Amino acid sequence: MSTVRQALATLDREAAGRSMMDLAAELYPIRRSLTGDGVRATLDRIGRRIPLDVHELPTGTPVLDWTVPREWNPREAWIRDPSGRRVVDFADHNLHLVGYSAPVHRRLPLNELRPHLHSLPEQPDLIPYRTSYYVETWGFCLPHRLLESLPDGEYEVFIDGSLEDGSMTWGDCLLPGSTTEEVVISSHVCHPQLANDNLSGIAVAVHLAEALAAVPERRYSYRFLFAPGTIGAIAWLARNRERLDTFRHGLIAANLGDGGSFHYKKSRRGNTEIDRAVAVALAGLGEELVTEDFFPFGYDERQYGSPGFDLPVGVLTRTPWGRYPEYHTSADDLSFIRAGALAGSLAAYLATAAVLEEGSVQSAGAAPAETARRRRSTTGRSANDRRYRNLEPFGEPQLGRRGLYGGLGGAGRKEREMAVLWVLNQSDGQHSLGDIADRSGLPAGVIRKAADALSEAGLLEVI
Ligand code: ZN
Repeated sequence: MSTVRQALATLDREAAGRSMMDLAAELYPIRRSLTGDGVRATLDRIGRRIPLDVHELPTGTPVLDWTVPREWNPREAWIRDPSGRRVVDFADHNLHLVGYSAPVHRRLPLNELRPHLHSLPEQPDLIPYRTSYYVETWGFCLPHRLLESLPDGEYEVFIDGSLEDGSMTWGDCLLPGSTTEEVVISSHVCHPQLANDNLSGIAVAVHLAEALAAVPERRYSYRFLFAPGTIGAIAWLARNRERLDTFRHGLIAANLGDGGSFHYKKSRRGNTEIDRAVAVALAGLGEELVTEDFFPFGYDERQYGSPGFDLPVGVLTRTPWGRYPEYHTSADDLSFIRAGALAGSLAAYLATAAVLEEGSVQSAGAAPAETARRRRSTTGRSANDRRYRNLEPFGEPQLGRRGLYGGLGGAGRKEREMAVLWVLNQSDGQHSLGDIADRSGLPAGVIRKAADALSEAGLLEVI
């Protein structure tokens, strides 16, 4: 029995669940975004509990194919209706303001204001979560019922805050083990006032770090990353490129507080030790586990699992992003997450660490699903047999500035954008366009068009 195993056996789930709910409640009102004082305040709270190195990277710093963006610090934002009443106010809910909105103060008629207002007609009482990090604009999010009730007339909009050169912040907690081989747990810290996505992931990661820090003998070193989504992982990979040879296993921690059963998205290779360790750990706990193959969108697994890095990183969640109605809305609040679910999630992560420490599972040979797919797709294809090489294989290339990706994030992904991500991720010389169409389930024509667009943008070359 390893000592991590003993930590699991003696875990007080009730106390841990309560403590994670408390931490989520403490972090819930903080105005987080990709950058800014909200991330710093969040990391400050985390750093009171576990040893945390906080890093600041200045605006304009190149990181892989990206550049660290300007820093955003919103202060006040509201809309007054023609009668002068504040109908939408950022002070009431952080989701009311589109993330990275530029400052504005003007009067305008409803029909000109309307394109800046975002709502959910299917969920008319909820506020949606919207951001526009890489295309400068401004906007508000509000319940559809309220939007529908707005009278014609002249409105006053006011957004005060700064969107200027500063820095991007992330935190890194390293618990050294007897070897320098690392298990990396990564959580995004850029979401404002949303509980399951992703205060649940932060709370579980912090408590896992606390539990592991209390274990005197560990084989692995454990690194906990608390970074903004996409650009944070890209920055971390860029700054740690030279020492990734110690990166052994990774997990993305998110969506861990809802009532759903566990869900594991495999690493890009699909047959690594972490993929097997999660399955063994969850079986040992008697927990139900739904497993699915890697796909190149979602959280930061798409950066760790880009073809140049191809790191063994899976995603262990309860209900995955986008598959519960509260996702990215004001209904993902503190009442949506449960102490018992968080405690079960902590146990799942601790059990996975115990399995890794024991070294009782090995990575398998070639993933059978992958082999079968490749065999099937070699017959009866011609144009689709073409293979490409991704010319920016380290992390995801910045597609927005090349016009290959929509500006306003948070809404559902379009088929075309998914095809672009699939082609980039799988174009390592091993997979033909036909293979990619098979694996992604997207129409071959859409995959071919994506390959054409990427070639034109200089991101792909034919082999
Ligand atoms: Zn999210």
